[in-house]
Amino acid sequence: QLTAKELKAYYKEIVSMVEEQKDYLCELDRKIGDGDHGVTMSIGWQAVNEKLDNELVAEEDCAKVSIMVGKTFLSAVGSSVGPLYATGFMRGAKAVKGKTVIEDKDLAEFWIAFARGIKERGQAEVGDKTMVDTLEPFANELEAKFAESGEFLPAFTDAVAAAKAGMESTKELVSKRGRSSRLGDRSIGAQDPGATSAYMILATFLNFVQ
Ligand code: ADP
Ligand code: MG
Ligand code: MG
Repeated sequence: QLTAKELKAYYKEIVSMVEEQKDYLCELDRKIGDGDHGVTMSIGWQAVNEKLDNELVAEEDCAKVSIMVGKTFLSAVGSSVGPLYATGFMRGAKAVKGKTVIEDKDLAEFWIAFARGIKERGQAEVGDKTMVDTLEPFANELEAKFAESGEFLPAFTDAVAAAKAGMESTKELVSKRGRSSRLGDRSIGAQDPGATSAYMILATFLNFVQ
């Protein structure tokens, strides 16, 4: 289980992680995109950080926290990932509506809704070389493993391993979505930046709850 205070502490962890990975994410995006992925993530998460330090300090409702994260990210970020991650956190919020403490079952639902919400919003499929290559295997593994054991941490651990394999699979793919799709075959060999930041968001959560 996770309290609202812990959820906010996790969002703070993303803020720090993004600052640490900013250059790496830009470097990945320079190979197949316009080189700004680290910067767009940083702008979005810095805006979220400002909310966490002000409006959200006393907020105990996990759904309200996540909705604010999504909305703030959306209005701060101008690039493709703005509406994608925003949708993810807002869909996740629906799974934890009115909760001040998130039980394991709702936590599993939060993450499944996050991943599937992004897929629905962006209309990308596995193999298109996007964050969906990280998120779809993650959601499927989490759903299957949690149904099997009813234990969140082992299920989430396996799901993050599936996410990592999905992220790595993007290296060999030809881009079919977004800016990098213009490169066609020339996009082969580079790992997708969004697939990478999505994996980092999930791995940061695993690290936080472990
Ligand atoms: P931009 O391409 O506008 O500069 P970013 O560099 O911030 O945006 O993000 C690029 C990432 O967005 C890509 O690496 C890819 O993972 C993700 N992306 C783009 N379009 C889609 C989509 N339709 N569905 C899922 N992810 C997408
Ligand atoms: Mg970019
Ligand atoms: Mg851009």
